[in-house]
Amino acid sequence: MKSLKKAEAYLNSLISRGIKNIPTVKPATEPKQVPSNNPLNELKQQVLPCKLCAELAQTRKTVVFGSGDAQAKLMFVGEAPGFDEDQQGLPFVGKAGQLLTKIIESIGLKREDVYIANVLKCRPPGNRNPLPEEVINCQPYLKKQIALIQPKVICALGNFAAQTLLQTSSSITRLRGKWYQYEGVKVMPTFHPAYLLRNPEDKRKTWEDMKMIREELKCLS
Ligand code: SF4
Repeated sequence: MKSLKKAEAYLNSLISRGIKNIPTVKPATEPKQVPSNNPLNELKQQVLPCKLCAELAQTRKTVVFGSGDAQAKLMFVGEAPGFDEDQQGLPFVGKAGQLLTKIIESIGLKREDVYIANVLKCRPPGNRNPLPEEVINCQPYLKKQIALIQPKVICALGNFAAQTLLQTSSSITRLRGKWYQYEGVKVMPTFHPAYLLRNPEDKRKTWEDMKMIREELKCLS
């Protein structure tokens, strides 16, 4: 009630001064728009109607291409869209996404400073694991995304992202905390935020991995 009265008093003071338009402040986290003629947007337009994986194309609501800064130094790659992502057409917007935002902020960056994508651009029904042929179908899109964004560092989130990028069958527990290369780009695998929600005791290990990324980005700037 107090804040309503304050707002009313503020509006009355504006009217008494003859001000008809209320000044607005842009939110600090307004996402950076990728210009429509950007090659990344052109790639997105190619991917949106993709039906290479017949089952996924039938069951998905949207194709979740990716979002963020098209010139980001740091790129995150996850597994595949979940329910919320499929509904909204954006990567990492559910509970795991909220944790990813906190992880990004833990190294002094904002979500709009990085680029976020997945290995698969379509949600597997019931959030089942991606099938090997689906990963093979979608991999060229991720490869092109990375080539266009040219990040300095890729953070691979979870088993599927790390195994796809590094072409290995090793588990994330073995891979995390060490540097690898993908097409000349440094890759740091760490736990997927969805795993961290189920296993919060491993958050500390992800924090260690993120500190290594922070140091690497510092050296590069
Ligand atoms: S997952 Fe990738 S390859 Fe498969 S239908 Fe979706 S966009 Fe196409």
